[in-house]
Amino acid sequence: MTQQVLENWEVDAIVPNEGEVPFLKIVQAVERDEPLDGLPGLAMLHNGEIRLTPAPPPVPIDELPIESHMYEDRTITHKEAEFMSGGTLGPEPWQYRTFWMNTTRGCPYHCTFCSVLGRSSWRMESPTRVVDRMQLLHDEYNCRYLSFGDSSFNIKPGRVIEICDEIVKRKLKIRWFASGMRANKQLLPKPMVEAMTRAGCALIYFGAESGSREILKTIRKNLNPMDVDRTVSLTQSHGIHARVSLMIGNPRESDETIDQTLALLDRVDPSLAGIAIAQIYPGSELFTHAKELGYITDEYWANGNHAIPFFPSASYATTMRWYNKIRFRKTPARGLIGHLYGARAGLHSRFGISLGRGGIRFGTPPPPLFCDMSGASEFELASLPRDAASAK
Ligand code: SF4
Repeated sequence: MTQQVLENWEVDAIVPNEGEVPFLKIVQAVERDEPLDGLPGLAMLHNGEIRLTPAPPPVPIDELPIESHMYEDRTITHKEAEFMSGGTLGPEPWQYRTFWMNTTRGCPYHCTFCSVLGRSSWRMESPTRVVDRMQLLHDEYNCRYLSFGDSSFNIKPGRVIEICDEIVKRKLKIRWFASGMRANKQLLPKPMVEAMTRAGCALIYFGAESGSREILKTIRKNLNPMDVDRTVSLTQSHGIHARVSLMIGNPRESDETIDQTLALLDRVDPSLAGIAIAQIYPGSELFTHAKELGYITDEYWANGNHAIPFFPSASYATTMRWYNKIRFRKTPARGLIGHLYGARAGLHSRFGISLGRGGIRFGTPPPPLFCDMSGASEFELASLPRDAASAK
């Protein structure tokens, strides 16, 4: 992918990893009118060959400057906030500015579909500094509502409790939500949920992904679906809304695994549920595996012609039928709508017939991209990363 971007766009260099240090070096070199060659952490083309210079060591987050003016551009609109919270916060927070904040880098887990940076260099900002930044947003920007955008906010529950205690100690009046939380039982102890309630947490997003143990094992989510039951129930019983994020269309997905996901949804009854179709992102294990099997090339994203990956068990129509079955789960009427959507998807994929507001259009069916992942290795539930297992 790096090569394709360098070759196909007017780009001199790419910073494939964390940018603070390499980008500063680029700016300094440009200011001095010096060449970029040899600067750390850059990918550049030399005579058609990609050359990557070693990345500098990751900077501890606490050593990065807090530049208050940076927050000017980081506000999220009320509409975005409303969408992300699913309207669960009521009208009151929308009177204020809302912000997005990350307090960790990377994630120590290894989900096959994920392309998060920093698997081997997961690190976090100290609790005091997190709340210092919240205080700044509160005092200088009238922030009353904030979203933690960390990939996995609760890798260390003890740290979450410290952040919450500090918020309470300073009497900060900010409502907040955590947009990426692991649902594992050991990462969501009751004292942590109690502390989050005291500190103004309104909503948590859990990456549940699937109700099927087989799928969770295949994507190496390292999660027991029963943990999601327990976690959502615990969260909601403490007055915090729970949203579960689900995925469909991973290798080994079938009618049976979809039914297991529906059963999970029915059992846990979250405040909100989001569903997405699995995508093969560059940097993810799924992407590498699909490339090794010869189903895709680096052009997959570079040429803008990326189809939904179809696995042997699932055509486009089947994938859409699954998608709509879950999406329209809640009432029989919605279920019927889901089936109609599924039928529409089938017309498009088999006959190229599109039904839309503009009427009926005849075209060609989308090209099938058969991605046989049935040979994917049997992923075992790995033991928890050391950091997570030792977190208290
Ligand atoms: S836990 Fe979340 S952020 Fe971490 S690897 Fe899995 S999907 Fe990615």
